[in-house]
Amino acid sequence: MIPIVHHPAYVAPAPARSQYQWNKNGLVRDLLVAEGERVFWHEPEAMPRKWLESVHDPDYVAEVLEARVPREKERRIGFPVTPQVALRAQMVPGGTWLAAKLAQRHGFAANTAGGSHHALSDTGAGFCVFNDLALAAVRLVEEGDAQRVLIVDCDVHQGDGTAALTAGHVGIATYSIHAEKNFPVRKARSTLDVGLPDGVADAGYMAALEETLLPLLDEFAPDMVLYQAGVDPWAEDRLGRLGLSREGLAVRDRWIGATLRLRGVPFASALGGGYGVDAMEVAERHVASIVALGVGAGLG
Ligand SMILES: [Zn+2]
Repeated sequence: MIPIVHHPAYVAPAPARSQYQWNKNGLVRDLLVAEGERVFWHEPEAMPRKWLESVHDPDYVAEVLEARVPREKERRIGFPVTPQVALRAQMVPGGTWLAAKLAQRHGFAANTAGGSHHALSDTGAGFCVFNDLALAAVRLVEEGDAQRVLIVDCDVHQGDGTAALTAGHVGIATYSIHAEKNFPVRKARSTLDVGLPDGVADAGYMAALEETLLPLLDEFAPDMVLYQAGVDPWAEDRLGRLGLSREGLAVRDRWIGATLRLRGVPFASALGGGYGVDAMEVAERHVASIVALGVGAGLG
């Protein structure tokens, strides 16, 4: 059985002027409910303000929590920060952190939202408000729950915010494999970046992943991995530039799960990106990813 972390606040009503697909988290929940006994459910608490302020600029935290984010930042985020969006933004990092804690008991757990890897210290960006990956990693290390957290980001877009927010933090390393020509134009510097040319397909992707991630796992020897399980490297994703098939995504996620299980490294996944006109199709990609990770981890 796969531990799933979900909170009703993840399914926020779409604010006006938003291009983000707000209903995908509700559809992910529904599809996981349909998996029945294969999954079991946990509800997170909000990430406490002190942790939000330890990773993000306290002024930006106040802007979000009081739903008064300046228009310029809202434009960068891609939607207005309403009180419901603000509540969601506190719950999602609480969920990624809880998934990590559950992973320490079960090997793997999945958050049904998150992977907000573009959020920076004093602003959100690219549909991300607070950076759940950086927040969970910092809290795990500083509370002594983990010594070395590796954030593995397989979203098609570089994990620029995560890299910037955790740079120089003892005990946290970042890995990002992405389409080099995709958003963000200006890349940050992860511990290890693997920028792929447009159109890389299943075999080339797996070769690059194995060749670069295995040595980093050997070298850094994490005792916790936070996995940004973006499904936008899919060939038909609206915002991707790579050429993976659905089976290619499943192979990636089963491999990640099996590799970390073999090494005895607990890992938590966050949803990450996935874009398309059909919200159900996008949700199916995310749920297939969670199931593949669970199978790889020996839980599915
Ligand atoms: Zn993405």
